[in-house]
This record gives sequence, C-alpha cells and structure tokens, in this order.
Amino acid sequence: MISCRESTRLASLQLERKLSLWERVQFRFHLAFCVGCRRAEKQFAFMRQATSAWMSHKD
Ligand SMILES: [Zn+2]
Repeated sequence: MISCRESTRLASLQLERKLSLWERVQFRFHLAFCVGCRRAEKQFAFMRQATSAWMSHKD
C-alpha cells in the first residue's frame, strides 16, 4: 500500500496528466482505507473542477 505522501503526490499529479492504470489503482486503494486522503482528494477534485471551469472560460 502506498503512503499518504505518495497518495498526495498522485492526487496532484493527476491535475497535470492522466494517471496510469496502476497509479490509479494504487491511489483508489489508498483512498478506500485512508479518511485523511479522501478528504484531501475532495479538495483536489474541487480544484480540478475550478481549474477546468477557468480554462474553458479562457479564449
Ligand atoms: Zn492517506
């Protein structure tokens, strides 16, 4: 199982590029067991949404 640190790294990495299948599996698996990272992931998801909303408003 990956560490919280690694999980956080993947959470921010997925903002930059698509995660590989294996990275996604490790990340999801960690989130299934770790409340702290689940909470952090929600914030990342919000940021992702906000970023893509901002991007789509750009010309
Ligand atoms: Zn964690």
